[in-house]
Amino acid sequence: MVSLGPLTQRRYCVYRCPFCYVQAGFLKYAALEIPEILEWIKSVREPYDIIFVSGDTDSFGPPRTEKGLALLRALLQFGVDLLFTTRALLNDDHLRELEDINDSCRSRGRRVFAYVSVAQLHHPHLEPRPIASPYERIAQLGRFKANGLISVLALRPFLPNVPVEEYLEIIKLAQTNADIIVGEVWYADQAGKMDERVFEGTPANYPFTLKQMDFDENEEVWKVFEGKEIEASAAQLCADLNLPFFMRSRPAIEWARRNLAKSVSSSSNFLG
Ligand code: SF4
Repeated sequence: MVSLGPLTQRRYCVYRCPFCYVQAGFLKYAALEIPEILEWIKSVREPYDIIFVSGDTDSFGPPRTEKGLALLRALLQFGVDLLFTTRALLNDDHLRELEDINDSCRSRGRRVFAYVSVAQLHHPHLEPRPIASPYERIAQLGRFKANGLISVLALRPFLPNVPVEEYLEIIKLAQTNADIIVGEVWYADQAGKMDERVFEGTPANYPFTLKQMDFDENEEVWKVFEGKEIEASAAQLCADLNLPFFMRSRPAIEWARRNLAKSVSSSSNFLG
């Protein structure tokens, strides 16, 4: 997992999603220039078969969109699948660059997974401006798919104050644009900093379990809202629509490799 790191010393992301765990105890990544990120990856000794550009910030939100795309292009040298996540809306030039990166990746027998995160349709305070409307971002998923990327709608995260029906509406809107749908539980800080913003100051009352993150080395114990009803309803709708649905990225990646990679080079041997 790599990213461009914090936007500035005082600000980790161009966006300010109230549910974002980076504002609590999540470990921020180092702010490195692209050559330094590449050197760090070269030093990794554990086998890996994909590089995520995700994590602690949106590396594709303006003003860093070009830099995020330059990082993605530079990562081609590692010869593995690439995955990025974003809430940003890319312009035509960015989309063409992304298509070209994807073409280069496919010529090496690898794929680019393009995740568009959407958390709401009718609760704009949860994805405040300058994040573009969910409708525009769902449309962007269709452009990713048309350009040959593996388009993934990330319903992230499931939130207790967004009705189940709203998630189902998002899936229906994205049904022809997304190759895959993924959901995700919500990690909130015990001090209530995130609750305060997500619930806009009203009392937060939702079921949670206390857990550590299994994908980050921070030592916090988080309130985890699992959204089991949302998960069950989303899974059922996706089954009805013949769309693959997962709660984690790894099974989504494995599904895509089995089902969407048939046209790529037979020399495709994934590492690890
Ligand atoms: S775009 Fe992602 S990293 Fe940025 S504030 Fe929102 S959830 Fe956090």
